[in-house]
Amino acid sequence: MIDSHCHLADEAFAADLDQVVARARGAGLLAALCVLALDEADELARAPRVAALWPSIHFALGIHPHQAGRFAGRLDQAISDLRVALQTTSGTRALGEIGLDYHYDLSPRDVQRDVFRAQVALAGEMHLPMVVHTREAEADTIAILEEAGRKPIAGVLHCFTGSPELARWALDSGLYVSFAGIVTFANAHALREVANGVPLDRLLVETDCPYLAPVPFRGTRNEPAHVVEVARTIARTKGVPLDELAAAVARNFAELFGA
Ligand SMILES: [Zn+2]
Ligand SMILES: [Zn+2]
Repeated sequence: MIDSHCHLADEAFAADLDQVVARARGAGLLAALCVLALDEADELARAPRVAALWPSIHFALGIHPHQAGRFAGRLDQAISDLRVALQTTSGTRALGEIGLDYHYDLSPRDVQRDVFRAQVALAGEMHLPMVVHTREAEADTIAILEEAGRKPIAGVLHCFTGSPELARWALDSGLYVSFAGIVTFANAHALREVANGVPLDRLLVETDCPYLAPVPFRGTRNEPAHVVEVARTIARTKGVPLDELAAAVARNFAELFGA
């Protein structure tokens, strides 16, 4: 089993990271992708400890759409800083998370688009897969990824909560689709239906911890070990054994992140 998207360097895990990692390994996790934010110095500083405790973990690094506004007017410098950080942060296998979030709108939408577009270009230049966050911004997400002119698109739509049409477009474009704990929620019938339509060879699972704990842990701090519940729900929906789904996820993770 693999957690394809977690924030283990988040402050939420600073106090008991060793136990969190021990539980993840105890639950059978082989690896994980730990997502870091370029402008979160404390988080970046904690990354080496995550790597030391869990040598098979890999990292993604990027500018989150929530924080895009901080880079308005100095985007060129930010991209050059990001390029250097990607080259110098050991264990980095992806550019992300990047994208658009029109649900929270924590940054102006035009700035989100500029920051996303520039990072899509950087991912192409550096030949890195992208970890894409998109919420209530499907048309603009598709437009920006398509205007880069790369097919197949190397990357994953993480914590997928979008429409069946977005999932179809992603699969047609070469992207992987990753589901988080939301897929376990009782009322998430439509999302489970989307997950059911994603073939095993394009599927990933994640926690996005410390947020979005799956059933039966909903409402508590989430952690990588809980990704098993996400996988269990999707395996049940698809009618495949959990082991088969876990093996597929491990292959996909290796294929996408070269890990
Ligand atoms: Zn996200
Ligand atoms: Zn995330």
